[in-house]
Amino acid sequence: MAYACVVPESFLIDHAGSVRLGVFVGILVAMSALEALAPRRARRRSREKRWPLHLGLAAAGGLVGRILAPVGAVAAAAYSESQGLGLFTRLDWPVWIEWTLTVLLFDLAVYGQHVLSHHWRWLWRLHRLHHQDVDLDATSGVRFHPVEIGLSTLWKAVVALALGPSVGAVVLFEIVLNGTALFNHANLRLPLALDRVLRLVLVTPDMHRVHHSVDPEESRRNYGFAVVAWDHLFRTYQAQPAAGQQGMTLGVDERSA
Ligand SMILES: [Zn+2]
Ligand SMILES: [Zn+2]
Repeated sequence: MAYACVVPESFLIDHAGSVRLGVFVGILVAMSALEALAPRRARRRSREKRWPLHLGLAAAGGLVGRILAPVGAVAAAAYSESQGLGLFTRLDWPVWIEWTLTVLLFDLAVYGQHVLSHHWRWLWRLHRLHHQDVDLDATSGVRFHPVEIGLSTLWKAVVALALGPSVGAVVLFEIVLNGTALFNHANLRLPLALDRVLRLVLVTPDMHRVHHSVDPEESRRNYGFAVVAWDHLFRTYQAQPAAGQQGMTLGVDERSA
């Protein structure tokens, strides 16, 4: 396969760790600054009570990712490429189409995992930690059980084996996923017109906040992480919470959990 991309693939692969960390820290700092300037909701708990757990989980998740790296999506993509396995190794499509499809199909796979996490009890036991946050801000985007991170890593490796994507496209997807998770959890009051335009394509903070409603019906809506299309396609989209963005309660109804 010939590679020609706006971001040179070799740069993404050689510097994957530092690019991911740089984008992560950059977006986290930017979102935290914007949250201070234009918060969507008043905080119920102080940052000091939530952030140590979130940053600890981010570190634990990063460690799990490193331990599982030899069997993760990037390694699986490299293996597929070397063995000629997977859909894209058999198709001679333009690189930009392949990269776009890779990002979209991985996003669909993560959407599917998220739906299962709300319907399979043993997966919910892991995922509920993400939903037990009684506030949302950008750091909620890293509030995941390390075992859930591990399962996600293995699931993405299976997808990589099936697709046979370019290694650089998988690295790009991981960066997109990290970045959009920080963005769509932000406690950010976007101008409503901007929110409307953005959510033609992307999951916005107001949209993902519906998913964190304490109402079990609403927490089974808006499963998407990056692109909004999957929630429309599978009819899980809900534009706003019934009680409004200010009136809704975030968290888990422990009686129904
Ligand atoms: Zn969820
Ligand atoms: Zn979330």
